[in-house]
Amino acid sequence: MPSPTQLAKKIAKSPTIAMNDKAKQLAAEGHSVIGLAGGEPDFDTPPHIVDAAMKALRDGETRYAAPSKGIRPLLEAIAAKTEQDNGVRLDPMSDIIVTPGGKLALFLVLQAMIDPGDEVLIPAPYWVSYPSITTMVGGVPVSVETTGADNYRLQLDHLREFITPRTKAITINSPCNPTGHMLSSAEIEAVATLALEHDLYIISDEIYEKLNFDGRPAVSLASIPEIADRVVIINGMSKAYAMTGWRLGWIAGPTELVSVAGKFNSQTATSAATFTQHAAVAALTGPQDCVEMMRQSYEERRNFMVQAFNDIPNMSSPDIEGAFYAFPKVNKTGKTSEEVANIILDEAVVVGVPGSAFGVTKDAHIRFSFAEDFGKLKEAVERIRKIADKLA
Ligand code: PMP
Ligand code: GLU
Repeated sequence: MPSPTQLAKKIAKSPTIAMNDKAKQLAAEGHSVIGLAGGEPDFDTPPHIVDAAMKALRDGETRYAAPSKGIRPLLEAIAAKTEQDNGVRLDPMSDIIVTPGGKLALFLVLQAMIDPGDEVLIPAPYWVSYPSITTMVGGVPVSVETTGADNYRLQLDHLREFITPRTKAITINSPCNPTGHMLSSAEIEAVATLALEHDLYIISDEIYEKLNFDGRPAVSLASIPEIADRVVIINGMSKAYAMTGWRLGWIAGPTELVSVAGKFNSQTATSAATFTQHAAVAALTGPQDCVEMMRQSYEERRNFMVQAFNDIPNMSSPDIEGAFYAFPKVNKTGKTSEEVANIILDEAVVVGVPGSAFGVTKDAHIRFSFAEDFGKLKEAVERIRKIADKLA
């Protein structure tokens, strides 16, 4: 019997997806489980976006999209959005590729920039898929761990310690999944200096840009003139427009890199779904009050979650500046984050994702999505409070 690749042994199923599947399975078996593992909006997609998809289907938009890199009105809508929101001018026909989801966008970008053995600096806590995708395309992920004690700040000297002649790129995710951290201007400067000093690409994952709190907008790294030519933006519809199941993301950045990613897109996905692209045009060019309504709702839930975890003895929550994840830690524990997550699962029947999945080695953090019904969040926190003495 032939067997799958050597690579297969190095890659596990995405832990966020695995834990989310587990919560769904427990619920199907009749357990009164509260699943806060998956990161997806609890809102339905706004109706005008759904209507645009239905209209596209009825109009016969059911074939392969052409051009395969994205239908022209969507490429133009993304270029207009990027100029308006991020202050970045793009040529719609050469600087953007539409993909079936931001995750595939990331895969194609890494495939386009990484030769075997090239290293990618990945500040931790990081989103679970960065290291695995880097490995899948033949690169070497290099985790640069920051800590809550230092507010997850990126520092130039710290980053420099991880540079080698093989370093090719750095990933930045602001607001960050799982911490919600948003880059300060000092951090932006540190990343820019590092990239110029060592000739790096910057992969700027901006998928949570619209979900920012306290009136502080997220800054796109591509808007910094000195580094604009080396920043590639990853973005998509999933989080801001509650469109996770529609699978629509994009890559925007340096023409040459985008063109290579476009070739790979045509050889793998062919194109993102055509009617989904029409829906995305409606989302990006239509009224934006739905996005603001959802953002405000996440902000209210953020306020609740931070306070609630800080009120539980021996637990604490870092500040959360954006996205929709709480990332509390157990302050004094001899246990690993997996052990803590398992106790919370067994005793409180609440499903989160252990901090180790996000590259955290120093403290026992658990990620809980708060893009979930308020009542369920309150109940989850209450259940955890009741068993908190078992976590230490
Ligand atoms: N980047 C980050 C940080 C994410 O959390 C996600 C969510 N899965 C993605 C990218 C990709 O999202 P999607 O594939 O749904 O566009
Ligand atoms: N981004 C979400 C999360 O972190 C969705 C699941 C995934 O793609 O990993 O949970």
